[in-house]
Amino acid sequence: MATLGIMVQNYFCLSFKDNLGTKDNLGHRGISELGGCVFCGADETVVHVLLQCPMAIASWSLFPAWAHFNTDSTEEFKMWFHGFAADHPIHELEKVMVCMWMLWFERNQMIWTGRHRSSTEVVSGAMYCLQEFQELHPPPKKHISRAKAKWLRPPTGAIKINVSGMFHVESSFGGVGLVVRNYTGAFLACKLVVLRGVSNPMHAKLVALREGLIYAAKWSNLDCHIEGDSQGALHSVQQGQADLSHLGCLIEDCKTLLAKQERVYLRFTERKANGVATRLAHYALHSQEAAEWVTDPPVFLQDVLFSDVM
Ligand SMILES: [Zn+2]
Repeated sequence: MATLGIMVQNYFCLSFKDNLGTKDNLGHRGISELGGCVFCGADETVVHVLLQCPMAIASWSLFPAWAHFNTDSTEEFKMWFHGFAADHPIHELEKVMVCMWMLWFERNQMIWTGRHRSSTEVVSGAMYCLQEFQELHPPPKKHISRAKAKWLRPPTGAIKINVSGMFHVESSFGGVGLVVRNYTGAFLACKLVVLRGVSNPMHAKLVALREGLIYAAKWSNLDCHIEGDSQGALHSVQQGQADLSHLGCLIEDCKTLLAKQERVYLRFTERKANGVATRLAHYALHSQEAAEWVTDPPVFLQDVLFSDVM
């Protein structure tokens, strides 16, 4: 059944062009005079076989939702189908397409093998094919939370500081970036810090958090939301007990800074929603020079700042 989708697609391409090998079409091309519709003997056109033939009408009557099919239509099949597709959800459209394909398949079986099946058998056969096809080809899972990760403005009156820390193994250099924006998304300040003798990525990420906590003190009269993209670093700063690892001093610094500032809130954000701070940290690694911008952002940040507020 893996080819069902392709077969149905090909069939619809042909019927849109009214190129199916109906006897009417074959007759027009002088290929043969085969007589009428195999089901009822009437002139065999695409609209007839799929919509107007008693066999088609009996098949569609098995679906109460489609009882309103305008089967008297004399318009081109393509026009009819476009109208139908515009009014119906995709899962219904799939059923209709597979049923139409099955009607055509049944018509061919009657011609070539003389097999006769009832409208109930045609429709149940079509639904079985569709179900089997869908089981073999489940729709791709959507990673909603990742796909939609986006920077969000802080609540009215508050500011947000995004921080990012990076580490370059070969050189043992680290880069830290932080950016401050207000609740309208307007840029307030940003900063690069270059670190030497960094031992691992966590080291750089903890320094980034500490830089954010120090910088937040400049706006101590406002609520300040600090966002970092390292769950590990945030967790170690937020947990209660003392950290005895080699990064313990750094963690304790962060805890002290956090405890001193009542209006500072720490939270995790996806890397995708932390694009400006990430860009700054990269820049710090490459430039290897500390820098700070206030009021006007540097040119290399403008595109990421803009896309965050779009
Ligand atoms: Zn017919």
